[in-house]
Amino acid sequence: MLNGRILDTGKILVPTLQWYISHSCNLTCTNCSNLNNFAISGHNTYDDTIAKNWADKLHVNDFCIIGGEPFTNNDLNTWALGLRKHFTCRDFRIVTNGTLLKKFAQDIPKWIENGITIEVSLHSENHFKKAFADIDEILQGQYTRTTKQQLQDSGCINHIACGYKDAIMVDNFPAFVINYKTKFYPWGVRGVKDDVWQFYDSDRELAHSNCWHKDTPYIYEGKMYKCGTMVGAKGFVQKYKVRDKDKELVNAYKPIDIMSNNLASQIQELNASIPQCTMCPNNSNTLQKIQLDKKKILP
Ligand code: SF4
Repeated sequence: MLNGRILDTGKILVPTLQWYISHSCNLTCTNCSNLNNFAISGHNTYDDTIAKNWADKLHVNDFCIIGGEPFTNNDLNTWALGLRKHFTCRDFRIVTNGTLLKKFAQDIPKWIENGITIEVSLHSENHFKKAFADIDEILQGQYTRTTKQQLQDSGCINHIACGYKDAIMVDNFPAFVINYKTKFYPWGVRGVKDDVWQFYDSDRELAHSNCWHKDTPYIYEGKMYKCGTMVGAKGFVQKYKVRDKDKELVNAYKPIDIMSNNLASQIQELNASIPQCTMCPNNSNTLQKIQLDKKKILP
């Protein structure tokens, strides 16, 4: 509820900000809140002016690079170091499914030196084992593995927002934090009928009040969105056949432009529900075990 507060420094508070750099993902986890289990594709290119402009205006405590799967974006190293230069907040993470860590093995030590943590969000026991083997190889055994409790007891900076299971410490810095979850609330689209995909038809306020995405704006293609679901939905309705009313609702959403004359008040409005919340589930249902697979062709 704090989004949009103007601080004494003149900056606009956005406690948690996610920067979305790719629609593509190599997995198909059901319940993906950003609809990246579907074959939406496309990577974004880093623009230093856009990054600086947002960083000059915002005060962020917890910053994440996210997708899709950020490790599918070949420019990830440029993104990571570029955004880190401008966003000097305590917690700076890249969130990944952990399957492609070795693709950036050469760059990861630089990220650690620059205070970038990799949050490995794992949804299967197999991925869990492989990710640890890859981390061990990348760090050449030069780390200590610690639990959340040990980390908090040590007084080390910690990533309380993400509920990780344990951490891989390098020189007392959480180089990797591990988030292992196999159950999620329903999300994304409700189903498909006669080749037409359907979103939910929920009560706007109920869906919003139960939504764990609701206070986390995303930056995508230089503009700020209410949530990752809206970013993914924009890609989804371009590629898949949906009901006319769903398409109109998604396309009616207008993200915030950095050049807006009333930026702070627009960001404050992000604290409230949006008409598009009706497309999401009410999420009063029980957690579902996630089903995941590899995409046959990497988009
Ligand atoms: S559209 Fe509303 S309910 Fe759906 S994820 Fe975004 S904030 Fe949550």
